[in-house]
Amino acid sequence: MNKQDNNLMEKIVSLCKRRGFVFPSSEIYGGFAAVYDYGTYGVELANNIKDVWWKAMVQGNENIVGIDSSIFMHPKVWEASGHVGGFSDPLSECRKCHTRSRVDHILEEAGIFADEKMSEEKINKLLVDNKKKIKCPKCGKSDFAPAKSFNLLVKSNLGNFTGDWDKSPVYLRGETCQGIYINFKNVLDSSRVRVPFGIAQIGKAFRNEITARQFIFRKREFEQMEMQMFVRPDEEMKMYEEWKKRRWQYYIDLGIKEKNLKWHEHENLVFYAKAAWDIEYNFPFGFQELEGIHARGDYDLTQHTKCSGEDLSYRDPITNEKYIPHVVETSAGVDRTFLAVITEAYMEEKVDKEIRVVMKFPKNLAPIKVAVFPLLKNKPDLVKKAREVYDNLKGEFMCEFDDNGNIGKRYRRQDEIGTPFCLTIDFDSLDNGDVTVRDRDTMKQDRIKIEGLKDYLKEKLEK
Ligand code: ATP
Repeated sequence: MNKQDNNLMEKIVSLCKRRGFVFPSSEIYGGFAAVYDYGTYGVELANNIKDVWWKAMVQGNENIVGIDSSIFMHPKVWEASGHVGGFSDPLSECRKCHTRSRVDHILEEAGIFADEKMSEEKINKLLVDNKKKIKCPKCGKSDFAPAKSFNLLVKSNLGNFTGDWDKSPVYLRGETCQGIYINFKNVLDSSRVRVPFGIAQIGKAFRNEITARQFIFRKREFEQMEMQMFVRPDEEMKMYEEWKKRRWQYYIDLGIKEKNLKWHEHENLVFYAKAAWDIEYNFPFGFQELEGIHARGDYDLTQHTKCSGEDLSYRDPITNEKYIPHVVETSAGVDRTFLAVITEAYMEEKVDKEIRVVMKFPKNLAPIKVAVFPLLKNKPDLVKKAREVYDNLKGEFMCEFDDNGNIGKRYRRQDEIGTPFCLTIDFDSLDNGDVTVRDRDTMKQDRIKIEGLKDYLKEKLEK
């Protein structure tokens, strides 16, 4: 189906709510901007996405190890990293309706090249020069106040009992990778890794994003999957090219069509970076960043060495050479991958003059693998047999038991959840010991013996 369908985003948001993938946070209190909760099937999908990433990055690479650092860190971490001074986006307020917008975004939407790393002066010049072209996304007027840099770090009062905590705040982490840098030495001293090696982490990050649009694409509380590869300085660019290739292939292996992926090179690099490319996905609102891949030089470990007083250099055990390793970073978002996977899976098909909505998730990502139905819920023998089948399978696969409504309705529900296989236990099952297995994608039905079900499903789900 056409992924640029104007209504596709609306349809996805509605399906996510209706079928328990994503709920707006605090909905009973009117919602809370740019914060979302994952529902029953959403949490399964998000866990499967994280599991695939962890397997691809940690389990599949002898020289990459994982950590799980805390959301809270010493406030000096964020001074050393440059976030307190420079982690900001350009914000401007519409003078008519007072809506705040990210200036780089509204400029880009009007076809004018801009990015968040431009100086305030430069971005304000663009704002003035293109005054007539750019419009407020809410009221459509072209009357913006001058842009100001707005720091994205989220502050808290953790451990501060004085009442004026705002003067010396503790921050919720703005990215997960700082937890990796500050544990560089701990990991080196406690595991068997040697340069080149990577440290990977999945975890929450928080940013005071100015605009709260585009569903889970831009959240204020979100989750990152980051890997920092520590390499010899002269190996940085070779390693960078290798990771660019590997991360591209990763998305193809995840089931994303190559035509829906695109490279985007950052022209405005921060002063220490050697290269920065994004992998973009063709979301219903156009191509946007899914993952960033960055060659960061020795900036991070040098900064933390300077600010903490701890020497974060590395001594090569063979050559005895001492240096600060350079970093190649791959930084992906769980939520943006989730939205890409949902967008990719969403299908509408005409079946018997009706539209069937089906989420064709790759089988390894599907929240529920197998649904088990007794044909009729008021026939105790059928229900008992179906329960037996469910109990026998649930240890192996994520299963769901459903006896609600007619079989057609149950199929539609499982199609929208994206369940690859539905099993129906009918009267013949009681005599012959077999069940109907219905395939989500082809809707074909097979009759399979109950005793062989586990092997049959295992084989089909691994394909
Ligand atoms: P953008 O330019 O869209 O604001 P970014 O360049 O600031 O993104 P990075 O700091 O490189 O993003 O973060 C790495 C990854 O973390 C992104 O590619 C994205 O997948 C994810 N991410 C960043 N910000 C958010 C957010 N507000 N909501 C959801 N995911 C995010």
